Amino acid sequence: MIPSGSTIGILGGGQLGRMLAMAAAQLGYKCHVYSPEKDSIAAEVSARFTCADWHDRTSLAAFARDCAVVTYEFENVPVAPLAAIPADLLAPTPRALEIAQDRVREKRFIEDLGGRPAPYAAIDADKELQGAIERTGTPGILKTRRDGYDGKGQWRLTSAHEVAGLRVPNAGLVYEGLVRFEAEFSVILVRGRDGEVRFWDSPENVHDGGILARSSVPASPQIAAQLMQARELAAKAADALGYVGVLTLELFATAEGPVFNEMAPRVHNSGHWTIEGAVTGQFENHVRAICGLPLGDTTTLGRIEMVNLLGDVAAQEVAILKDPHAHLHLYGKAEAREGRKMGHVTRVS
Ligand code: AMP
Repeated sequence: MIPSGSTIGILGGGQLGRMLAMAAAQLGYKCHVYSPEKDSIAAEVSARFTCADWHDRTSLAAFARDCAVVTYEFENVPVAPLAAIPADLLAPTPRALEIAQDRVREKRFIEDLGGRPAPYAAIDADKELQGAIERTGTPGILKTRRDGYDGKGQWRLTSAHEVAGLRVPNAGLVYEGLVRFEAEFSVILVRGRDGEVRFWDSPENVHDGGILARSSVPASPQIAAQLMQARELAAKAADALGYVGVLTLELFATAEGPVFNEMAPRVHNSGHWTIEGAVTGQFENHVRAICGLPLGDTTTLGRIEMVNLLGDVAAQEVAILKDPHAHLHLYGKAEAREGRKMGHVTRVS
């Protein structure tokens, strides 16, 4: 067990790190944020900040010397330089990062556990593109294997001819058939150092332009009917990795059962509602898990709606604050670019 007063290292400096640091502070921990970007909204609420490149092993090693445990708030942290950090400090295991950073590895990992991803084809060279699309069928989505998030690095195709007009990067790609889903949902679990697994209720998620717009609990009945199978898969994934902390699986509820979309080896946007909407929130339970503390109760406290606040939201703030059921979270980002996650609001009723 890592005693309170110790320092938790967080790799990544965004809003997930900010909310992790706030939960850690409640339990008496200090946080040290490591991020290559100098304007870190996580560092603003943390005791210490290292601003250095992901590949700077000297800085990573110095950072690790200050920490009792090191975790991630960003899943695209380059894995090789993490060798500069003693392996027993890292939680969850970097293997989870390695898998989640590559859409094809992630799908194969899930298939090996008996899960079902969307039909897909891995594409290593341009000349394979047309064939992969024809084999898998249209409509579909072409995605970069690595570094995509919030709908970035994705191209929707309705016919194989469209690929000729696309400017896709010269990197590994994956083509996925479009899943005709009834709804989207996520399984959010926390796994402790002793292997105990707890689930939060699964939210139903609505995306807009590839970005999460809203999560609500309880989810619709078609999701409820697929939960057991989805949870079983998520628990198998966590066990297979010897995972410690919060793990999220995003899934589609289809007429043929749950279809795996992607895995996030970290706290997740669709779990933000748990801060006020569950006895113990995802951020606190992640801290509890990585510090070897008893896990908190994940029971839901009411009907929940979490809405992301994107872009310029200043005009909405007062109205949200006047709503007695609303909990407003603003991340303190300086620049409100279109589609950028600036905060979220959770309503518990
Ligand atoms: P991703 O970044 O892969 O999670 O994609 C973001 C969102 O795009 C998902 O939550 C879905 O709403 C949609 N999407 C991605 N892949 C597919 C797919 N194969 N079939 C249908 N919708 C998809």
